Amino acid sequence: TGKFFVGGNWKCNGTQESIAKLVSDLNATTLEDDVDIVVAPPAIYIQQVVKSLAPRIQVSAQNAWVGGGGAFTGEVSAEQLKDIGTKWLITGHSERRHILGEKSDFIGKKSAYALSKNLNVIACVGEKLEERESNHTFDVIFEQLQAFVDELPSWSNVVVAYEPVWAIGTGKVATPQQAQEVHSAIRKWLGEKLSTEVAAQIRIIYGGSVTGANSSELAKQEDIDGFLVGGASLKGPEFATIVNSGT
Ligand code: 13P
Repeated sequence: TGKFFVGGNWKCNGTQESIAKLVSDLNATTLEDDVDIVVAPPAIYIQQVVKSLAPRIQVSAQNAWVGGGGAFTGEVSAEQLKDIGTKWLITGHSERRHILGEKSDFIGKKSAYALSKNLNVIACVGEKLEERESNHTFDVIFEQLQAFVDELPSWSNVVVAYEPVWAIGTGKVATPQQAQEVHSAIRKWLGEKLSTEVAAQIRIIYGGSVTGANSSELAKQEDIDGFLVGGASLKGPEFATIVNSGT
């Protein structure tokens, strides 16, 4: 099911100096060939990373405006991200859904706009703890996915990230079985809504407390095609271990 894919989401962390160090650590590591690797710095440091990081690793933005540029104070457009060498956009991250209040239909529209401007999209979904505990995991995930299905004209430049909210930044990684159960349900659902071809080819990556110590067990699961890594992506050698855990 597609080439292994590992993304590093740096979130709102770093300075010019710490990012220069992380980039030079990444440039010095040995990375397997058969993996797509993407890092997502804070927007203000994207240019620095594009200019200094080996082209083996592509650069993603963590957010973009929902449409074209104009009178939208504080926003950055997909065109502008593309202009400075950004190749990917993360959309639907739980921090934007639950802290910034982004809704599924807005996220779907933002993702479609980014694809139309030739950014690839990492489309994130995931349930909160109380939703899992009340047996609503699949309702929540399918509602989030439906908004992408409604808006996206094509899925060839999309990676789906399953990130259970209770696992993000908590050290409580999903078990390989918990993650596999959801990944396989997502693939089946996409097969029904889109096509068996899309379902077979799309990469479904896991995020939430992935570390160099737990990534290889997760990577063995049939429907886990890679990772979206937060905290551990801020350490070059550990991120390299995660990148190399798929092979
Ligand atoms: P952590 O790896 O820090 O749990 O974050 C996961 C995440 O949100 C990646 O987008």
